[in-house]
Amino acid sequence: MNQIINIFYNKNKKSQSIREEVQEKLESRGFTISYDNHPDGILNLCIGGDGAFLRAVHDSNFSPIPFVGINTGHLGFYQEILIPHIDRFIDDFIHQNYHVESLFTLQAQGIIHGSNQSYRHRALNEFVIKNSDNSIIYIDVYVDDNHLETFAGDALLVSTPAGSTAYNFSAGGSILYQQLEGYQLTPLAPINSKAYRSLLNSLVIPKHAVLKMDVRLRGDHNFLLIADGITHEYPKAKISFTISETRVKKLVFNENWYWLNIKDKFL
Ligand code: NAP
Ligand code: MN
Repeated sequence: MNQIINIFYNKNKKSQSIREEVQEKLESRGFTISYDNHPDGILNLCIGGDGAFLRAVHDSNFSPIPFVGINTGHLGFYQEILIPHIDRFIDDFIHQNYHVESLFTLQAQGIIHGSNQSYRHRALNEFVIKNSDNSIIYIDVYVDDNHLETFAGDALLVSTPAGSTAYNFSAGGSILYQQLEGYQLTPLAPINSKAYRSLLNSLVIPKHAVLKMDVRLRGDHNFLLIADGITHEYPKAKISFTISETRVKKLVFNENWYWLNIKDKFL
């Protein structure tokens, strides 16, 4: 058969020992294992928590090869396979006993003020926009060129449906089912006073709408654009957020898993 499976794993002890065990099991079934993000792989297997899944997605530059995760920590939204179920997972994989879900990703495109320099980042969970020195950030927010608000506060979060259970949820945002076609803007400690008024709750935006931010900074401060926990620092800019063309494919073995996971993790 000689089909290649890419393995990604985090450095904790449990993940290391599971990695060895899984490699042996897969090789005994005729698969070849790669740790180098092989472009001809048929599967990207991540061992660790949700953070390990996110890192695999970024390290593989949003690989088009489908992902699946074996969870070595607490339950995870990306990491469906539990350690006691590894043998069943391998059988189900060989028999194609799964379906493939496409996860939306977000794209942020920035243009630095006073120049035509631009940059682009992608995120599977969310972007966080905040000041680099922990001072208040001021952002003019537009939806499809309609001015929505002038935000003043700690940060704005722009999260995907899959990312809605992460930082967004801690910030009081809603859980969006992973297949819902939209994304979410969530404020972090918005200031509401006579001087500043902005939405206190999250706003769900339809898939085709463009969210624009004009980040205004005092003096020569920078701001942070954090993509799934990866920090980028920039001077004043206009940023457009859209649902990207890129999808992350994930294998799903248990149809009920999402709802079971919500209950198990949060309730
Ligand atoms: P981390 O600081 O190790 O993990 C943050 C927590 O978020 C972990 O418990 C992680 O699960 C969980 N998580 C990640 N993606 C999730 C998702 N889609 N749904 C539910 N929970 C999720 O950092 P990390 O592991 O590299 O993850 C980066 C993410 O951390 C960011 O994308 C952001 O969403 C999140 N974060 C959350 C807060 C907050 O809640 N106040 C603050 C900063 C960042 P695992 O333990 O399974 O990895
Ligand atoms: Mn983590």
